[in-house]
Amino acid sequence: MAEYIAYPCAKSTETRGTRPVGNGFKAPLTADGCGHWNTRRMMNRIGEYRSIQGSPCTQCTRRQRLNRGNTYEAPQTEQVRDWGSPDGWRTRQLTDDDKRAWAIERARRGNEQEAARRAYVLEHERENATRMSNDSNAIEQVISTIEQTTQTIEQTRQFIEQIPTSEDEEE
Ligand SMILES: [Zn+2]
Repeated sequence: MAEYIAYPCAKSTETRGTRPVGNGFKAPLTADGCGHWNTRRMMNRIGEYRSIQGSPCTQCTRRQRLNRGNTYEAPQTEQVRDWGSPDGWRTRQLTDDDKRAWAIERARRGNEQEAARRAYVLEHERENATRMSNDSNAIEQVISTIEQTTQTIEQTRQFIEQIPTSEDEEE
């Protein structure tokens, strides 16, 4: 019997090892994960406290420590209809193939959700960019209005200066 898990490539507090960066330099793995969902086959279940080193992410090659908290394990059993049993259900042990299919499906769904999340973020950023460009248009209009108003004030001042004062009249 084997165990199968699905998990997103995510930020891990337990990252181990290094990976090549740039011109052959190695840097500690401190970056967040890429969000891609991977599956993994194991000989044993992940224990409550035990964590294991994950295989490299198929997308970004990053490794992360895997534990129960950051993985989704294929179930051991499932309930299937059995009208011969008293309550109409029977517990069936999942085969390795079943577990593998479960993990692949979980990863597929995870990647779908991640893609939707990214699309949402992108759309949000696009909207923000549009609003900011609208804002800068608004600012330009305000500046143009201020310039026109300043011009009008200057013209009015010059006009007032040309009006003869009462003293001028007396002379
Ligand atoms: Zn990754």
